[in-house]
Amino acid sequence: MVKFLDLKAITEIHGDEYKEVVNRVIDSGWFLQGNENKQFESNYTKYIGTEHCIAVANGLDALYLLMRGYKELGIMKDGDEIIVPANTYIATIIAITRNNLVPVLVEPTWENLEIDIDKIEEAITPKTKGVMIVHLYGRVAYNDKLGEICKKHNLKLMEDCAQSHGCAWKGVKTGALGDAAAHSFYPGKNLGAFGDAGVVTTNDAQLAEVIRALANYGSQKKYVFKYVGMNSRMSELDAAVLDMKLKYLDEDNKKRQELAAYYYEHITNPLITLPKRIADENNVYHQFPILCERRDELQEYLKENCIQTLIHYPIPPHKQECYKEWNSRSYPITESIHAQELSIPMNQVISAAEAEEVVKVLNAFK
Ligand SMILES: *Cc1c(COP(=O)(O)O)cnc(C)c1O
Repeated sequence: MVKFLDLKAITEIHGDEYKEVVNRVIDSGWFLQGNENKQFESNYTKYIGTEHCIAVANGLDALYLLMRGYKELGIMKDGDEIIVPANTYIATIIAITRNNLVPVLVEPTWENLEIDIDKIEEAITPKTKGVMIVHLYGRVAYNDKLGEICKKHNLKLMEDCAQSHGCAWKGVKTGALGDAAAHSFYPGKNLGAFGDAGVVTTNDAQLAEVIRALANYGSQKKYVFKYVGMNSRMSELDAAVLDMKLKYLDEDNKKRQELAAYYYEHITNPLITLPKRIADENNVYHQFPILCERRDELQEYLKENCIQTLIHYPIPPHKQECYKEWNSRSYPITESIHAQELSIPMNQVISAAEAEEVVKVLNAFK
């Protein structure tokens, strides 16, 4: 059986080190808002290359609080529009609508699966206040043209980095490419905690201060509340685990890149389309998506051959019941990606023999 994601095997590699870290937190008797949070925030912000990093409870909160921060600062208001890829994970969209902002869905490109930067300018209206890019599957969704568009139209460039830990564009890490970024440390991400966790990174000191308060009941001073905030905090345990795991992130990503190189070289079945290959620096392969017109059949066939796969994602946001008002809209590229995408095993513990097996079985699909 080639497992899609074996978190037990991944965790066991540094099992003893995790146990030391967990024991350290137990012995400290301090479980929230302590030194482990400070240490991880400091190391992660150094790693990303931003001045500020605010630890929160999960990736969705990071996305939500980022835009809520802009609202509290008066930079965004109810009804303003945010440009976002139509094929993102639902969290990106929920964070926008929960802020009473309006997502303007822009199609991705078929080759790259990321937002089509050439279609962004035509989606801008007087109400547009920001662009939220999503580095989906670990592929960078930024280029210099996007940076120029955002400057020219005075738009906040925001990043959803839930799938792109360690990915860079011309040496600048995702999370430091725009004005502010949200990161998720859901256990299955390239950098995953032992539960839910997330951060916002930014160089904007004012925004950082507001987000930090919002995540702590809207308080900057104990028992004094400036905003109607929320409780969105990272446990000391998760911060400690993440800080330890961060040391291994580049090494883990390198293993993913090596596996991807093997897949690109050896998957030759004409029924299967691979997304355009981009430089390793620009892709940390959170997933390895393949496209196939007979996707459901292919998934069933792989299952029969003991290869686990997942679909990212079966239903696009505009076809979900929670956004009924958009169900009649048509985004043909997004819809065909959702109809054809299949993620094959991709992580740092897939062995050479397993990779060979995946390729052999995929190439034999008729
Ligand atoms: C995982 C993910 C999120 C949400 O992160 P959580 O920590 O699960 O809340 C947001 N956006 C994208 C693209 C994701 O993959």
